[in-house]
Amino acid sequence: MSQPSSLKGIPVRVECSFQQDHASGTARPASASGTPRSAAMSFDTGLYEKHRKIQPRSVSGVFANWRITMVVLTQLVFYGLPWMTWNDRQAVLFDLAARKFYVFGLLLWPQDFIFLAALMVMAAFALFLFTAMAERLWCGFACPQTVYTEIFMWIERRFEGDRTRRMKLDAAPLSLEKLWRKGSTQSAWVLLSLWTGFTFVGYFTPIHLLSAEVAALSLGPWEVFWVLFYGFATYGNAGFMREQVCKHMCPYARFQGVMFDRDTLVVTYDAERGEPRGSRSRKADPQALGLGSCVDCTLCVQVCPTGIDIRNGLQYECIGCAACIDACDGVMAKMGYSSGLIRYASVRTPRPSGAMREMLRRSLRPRTAIYAVLLFGTAAAFVTGLAARDPVRVDVIRDRNALSRPVGDRIENVYRLHFMNATEQPGRYVISVEGLPGLQVVDGGSVEVEPTGSRMLAVRVQAPADFAPSGSSRIEFVVRGLEHGVEVREPAAFLVTR
Ligand code: SF4
Ligand code: SF4
Repeated sequence: MSQPSSLKGIPVRVECSFQQDHASGTARPASASGTPRSAAMSFDTGLYEKHRKIQPRSVSGVFANWRITMVVLTQLVFYGLPWMTWNDRQAVLFDLAARKFYVFGLLLWPQDFIFLAALMVMAAFALFLFTAMAERLWCGFACPQTVYTEIFMWIERRFEGDRTRRMKLDAAPLSLEKLWRKGSTQSAWVLLSLWTGFTFVGYFTPIHLLSAEVAALSLGPWEVFWVLFYGFATYGNAGFMREQVCKHMCPYARFQGVMFDRDTLVVTYDAERGEPRGSRSRKADPQALGLGSCVDCTLCVQVCPTGIDIRNGLQYECIGCAACIDACDGVMAKMGYSSGLIRYASVRTPRPSGAMREMLRRSLRPRTAIYAVLLFGTAAAFVTGLAARDPVRVDVIRDRNALSRPVGDRIENVYRLHFMNATEQPGRYVISVEGLPGLQVVDGGSVEVEPTGSRMLAVRVQAPADFAPSGSSRIEFVVRGLEHGVEVREPAAFLVTR
């Protein structure tokens, strides 16, 4: 144990090279095989702890395969979607300038914000459900921060090697080889980040047009800004910030604990089975040596992307990636021990015997059932709402310049009707009005709107002065689509001022 001679100056650092003995509950010296970083107690009264670069070791196994699958799937969707076409246009395009959002055969207007809200509610319920079932599944397998960090680390490994080689390279003095390896990593990161920024902007500007503009070096200032901004965010978060985003910036890490209960599956180290930890030969009998199953190889710490030691118990820094499970299962296999020293377990089902069936059964409990009902209920309402959407949307806006005026023996009100054709075919619509005796649209009242287009039309409505009551009367515009056989009714107020 080392201690500074004076406690007056800051920062004061106290280091204690003892570890908790899980079996006896007493402190014991750190093992010679290497004290896990987070197992060493360290108190720093400075405001900020110095950041230590984490160099995770690559890992293979069931959960690593799942993560790779998720990386490939999510990135196929992200990078591929903007290049897909639908009816001779980009399949998914959020055209902010025209205020139209195309999602395959669906055209949404800003007025359809309710669907976006429903999507966000569904995403929230899904997050609640998965968190209640198996803690940070989203963080460990599908969050963009995890996904891009995985891709960036894969690139890093291609040029700089796995953990040990990277650490040696970091410590080595500058050389041609170091320059080449580091430079190649950085170049690949920058290219991928720019491509990511370009793809992101391609969701808002037609990507073929964007490509032509890039080729002609004629990108607009906003496009340049967003490509660089999104690219920089990707580069910074996945290349440098990495686990710090999860530990210090992501709010989800802070509040997800409230969604846990005694049946939530969390990545857990079985201290009862693993302790006392200690190295031994493969042939040695751990019982004879008085040891548990943990061989203290620290591989679980070395593969951890947040640099924690799961053997110290549940920690908020754990993103639930299960890399430590893969690493430890590999060690257990080599030692000839049964797997699952580190595994998914819940407070109520901590032991592995028959655990899978028991854990699945406990996944179906009131909390998860409520989340599931809310999720599927919102999804059903979302789909039903989309299916029942009118192919034409009409907004009625009163002309505020002329509330009401006499025209001969009639009273006239003027409205502006905004037609939005949500189909890929031209639309012809006939406008009529109901609600007062003798009420009629002047000048015919029909309009044509191009496919997926919108049109504003001034409409004059007159009623006989003798029949129109003073004040405001509720009337209804009736719009009939000639092609789509649809009828849309929009309420409005007819004003009479005498
Ligand atoms: S990987 Fe398994 S055996 Fe190795 S230190 Fe971690 S828990 Fe112990
Ligand atoms: S402790 Fe295990 S599950 Fe948690 S972040 Fe580290 S490697 Fe992933």
